[in-house]
Amino acid sequence: MVSHRGATRKRKAPQPNIKVEPPLVVNCICCHCGAVFNPGEVRGRYLNRACPSCNGNLAEGEYDSAAAAISDEIAEVSGLIEESKAAVEKWKTWARRFRLAIFKPINRVFQNKADTSMKRCSELSDRLTAKRRRLYALAKSRYYVSEWYQLTRIPLIRTVVEPYTINVGYGPAGKWSVSPTDSLTSGITAEIQVFMATLARIRDESSQLCEARLVPNIYLPHKQRSVRAERLWSQIDLILLTRQAAFVIEVKRRRKRVLAPAPFEEIWSTTDGSLVDAYARGVLDCASSEAGFTDESFALNQNSRHAIALSEVCKDYPFERIYEQVVYVGTDSFSTDCKGFVDNVNVSKLGRSVADFAGIIEAECARLDSIVSQSRIDDLGEELVETYGDLNQKRGQLHAERIRKMNRV
Ligand SMILES: [Zn+2]
Repeated sequence: MVSHRGATRKRKAPQPNIKVEPPLVVNCICCHCGAVFNPGEVRGRYLNRACPSCNGNLAEGEYDSAAAAISDEIAEVSGLIEESKAAVEKWKTWARRFRLAIFKPINRVFQNKADTSMKRCSELSDRLTAKRRRLYALAKSRYYVSEWYQLTRIPLIRTVVEPYTINVGYGPAGKWSVSPTDSLTSGITAEIQVFMATLARIRDESSQLCEARLVPNIYLPHKQRSVRAERLWSQIDLILLTRQAAFVIEVKRRRKRVLAPAPFEEIWSTTDGSLVDAYARGVLDCASSEAGFTDESFALNQNSRHAIALSEVCKDYPFERIYEQVVYVGTDSFSTDCKGFVDNVNVSKLGRSVADFAGIIEAECARLDSIVSQSRIDDLGEELVETYGDLNQKRGQLHAERIRKMNRV
């Protein structure tokens, strides 16, 4: 191009438009002392996170106890509001009965009583709002001080890069829950649910998994790199390191009926319950094209690649001690004829049943001898998160961008 001064200049190549997420500002509250802090200020290490102000234990159960106390107060205040509303109605009715001019003094008495009850109602409503706000603050803080957030740094809200919102809260029964708002967060929240369920076993002294190490959301390099972008990294949802074995877990959320017959070489899904019944009666072959099932077996191949990628960077476990598990969340139904690992592979689900994934891992660990020391597991967990984790949230963005590009080709 020619500039105003007549000199020729080369047009500059346009800069790639890289979006940047603004710094995350989150105020967590301590469930003991009420101190407000940033999630990065949490003290301590894995399974022993503590408040930067009072040094109190920030485990999930501590938040749940604080939330249970607030929930009780909310119930009490709600009851008082109902009483006050009834009182307002009562005094208004009495005031109406004495509305004639000759009863003016009596009418004023009842009117005043109604006004007092109304004022109390409004004060109680303010108290209720404050308590509900505190309950939400506890639910949000429980997320940001959790092992999941401390090990992944995945925020509840993103506003610029692939914006999303994940909802958290305490339900009426005092149970903390996490829920998606769209398809992007439905995958992440399923991973969080599986992580939290495993963590509950890890904190349970009676469990075979007590003190096991969770390594969520890591990106392992592939030995053979190709131009195919997906080959650059293996994104692993969750690795569980125990003294006996390493478990590579792939989490899938499906609102469908899933069939996973042993020996776990295929997975099928359908929305039609009658197909599942026909399969159970042995009159339908999933693999036949007329059967109408969707083939979900790719999850098995994907997870096998993940297990190989782990074996390449982690030499502490021989390959026969690396297990592959696909875990379904939110299915309409889940059917399998095997509640255990077959040649180190298992497909199961999250939930209270014999096919629950964590129970299957516990049973497998109980069968095996220990080969890795607890201190080595702790160090290995730290190493994997530091080296292959996504604590600055850059790998995940790049990974998603590459997959998008690849899908456009
Ligand atoms: Zn504190």
